[in-house]
Amino acid sequence: MRNRPPLIDGWGRTVDDLRVSVTDKCNFRCTYCMPPQGLPWLPKDAILTFEEITRVAAVFVSCGIRSIKLTGGEPLVRRDLHVLIRMLRDLDAGLDISLTTNGYLLAEQAPALADAGLDRVSVSCDSLLRHRFTELTLRDALAQVRRGIRVAAAAGLTPLKVNVVVMRNRNDDELIEFARLARDTGYDVRFIEYMPLDAQGAWSSDQVVPGVEIVERIDAVFPLRAAGRRDGDPATRFVFADGAGGSIGVIPSVTEPFCSSCNRVRVTADGNVRACLFSVDESDVKRPMRAGADDDELEELIRDCVARKWAGHRIGQADFVRPSRSMSMIGG
Ligand code: SAM
Ligand code: SF4
Repeated sequence: MRNRPPLIDGWGRTVDDLRVSVTDKCNFRCTYCMPPQGLPWLPKDAILTFEEITRVAAVFVSCGIRSIKLTGGEPLVRRDLHVLIRMLRDLDAGLDISLTTNGYLLAEQAPALADAGLDRVSVSCDSLLRHRFTELTLRDALAQVRRGIRVAAAAGLTPLKVNVVVMRNRNDDELIEFARLARDTGYDVRFIEYMPLDAQGAWSSDQVVPGVEIVERIDAVFPLRAAGRRDGDPATRFVFADGAGGSIGVIPSVTEPFCSSCNRVRVTADGNVRACLFSVDESDVKRPMRAGADDDELEELIRDCVARKWAGHRIGQADFVRPSRSMSMIGG
């Protein structure tokens, strides 16, 4: 594969982490993400094929992308996802390839995904209580998700991360139980601040539990030791001072944005490159690709989009504009 110059945005940040949404569809209805009736799904021919995703990914990899995360919607509802994993793995044996999933279909797919070359998974789980999990996702699926997590860990898809969106008075009374889960299993449990990316527009700042508060509340029960940040990882990490396994991560996207060190770029399921979750513009690569554009032309579109990446999001500021697409439509 040809080596192209790295992707550097207008603020000097090197972009080397790609998130690819493989579908906008989902089998859950998390209340902080989409309405109970779902969203108008994209028609099939609007979605990039595996070949198209791999082609765009190859251009990104030739520009220095080192990690690819597949997301959605729910990526495991896309049929034969393991085939795509294999195609991406064949691009570069050294790529870090991971997947963010709600875990519902993970138990049945984890072995094939691992065989195809997937390195690791992050599983979203916002409550360890059955009734609350059902209220938050509108699916009575906690047991199935926990089984998926166990099967994925056994298949070697590690370090296994459990992502928890923390919302005031909805699940913040479970912080200690999630910390206990990390200690008991060795998983990396990561707490994410609730962001204004729900399709319903119901987000308000009083529902956000600040990252510092999350750390304080856990530290009061299980003393923590700072473990720093991994390269390109937005999570501030902590380990347990008593040497128990697992770790805690906090992603304070709202109260302490990591924008100044952001290395991410995204491709939506319908083939638009987005430099930021909160971008208000996108660059279409699907249409040019389908019209016969060569790799140099795709590179130019990608480079141009990255160059326009903003310095940071403006949540909480007077001029903040909610992106027109919500989390599941962009690819979280
Ligand atoms: N369906 C997969 C899942 O839930 O893991 C992947 C897509 S989902 C959009 C990616 C991540 O975004 C999940 O961890 C989810 O909890 C998170 N998310 C969705 N809406 C959010 C919001 N409004 N604020 C913060 N995180 C959100
Ligand atoms: Fe689906 Fe993930 Fe959104 Fe939940 S957070 S509705 S699982 S896309």
